[in-house]
Amino acid sequence: MEQSVKVLFLDRDGTINKDIGSYVSSREEFILIDRADEAIALARQAGFRIVIISNQAGIARGIVTPWQVDDVNQYLRELLALRQASYDRCYYCPSHPEYPHPEYDQFLDCRKPSPRMVEQAVEDLRKEGLVVDLAGSFFIGDKVIDVECGLRAGVRPILVRTGHNEEALCHQRRIFPEHVADDLYQAITGYILSPPSAS
Ligand SMILES: [Mg+2]
Repeated sequence: MEQSVKVLFLDRDGTINKDIGSYVSSREEFILIDRADEAIALARQAGFRIVIISNQAGIARGIVTPWQVDDVNQYLRELLALRQASYDRCYYCPSHPEYPHPEYDQFLDCRKPSPRMVEQAVEDLRKEGLVVDLAGSFFIGDKVIDVECGLRAGVRPILVRTGHNEEALCHQRRIFPEHVADDLYQAITGYILSPPSAS
């Protein structure tokens, strides 16, 4: 039987963990943003599935290896486990248009702002009998490309002011998120999980 699920699609670097100005290649470089883990735990308790959608072009550029990216993602899983939380799936795009790579160019159309990775997640969840309620799902990220990806995928985009905080750029490019929050914790507790006021 099919089950309808709501999903929080989350950018990783600058949204869950601190942006370090370069590609995160080790556990030491992965530093959670304050209360991001707690926020993810609360969202899961409220019934949301958690899917991470990340551009990791450092792979095509030869700065990080897929093994390192996987290990950092595993570390995030371990950190979330301390909060009795986890993520359901994680997708990352290794490609970059300016850094051609024989192995990774086939994934170029996955790179955010393309909604391809979100669509892939929806397809994969479907195989488990889970139908994603797009109108009840969100994409949270720190960049214009995250907002655009969410809009193109048909989910509700939220921009966070951590990481690159591209709020001004969103206005400039007229790519508007539904909501702007100071950080992931505020986005989840102050907007997604808080009922609209009765005013
Ligand atoms: Mg980011």
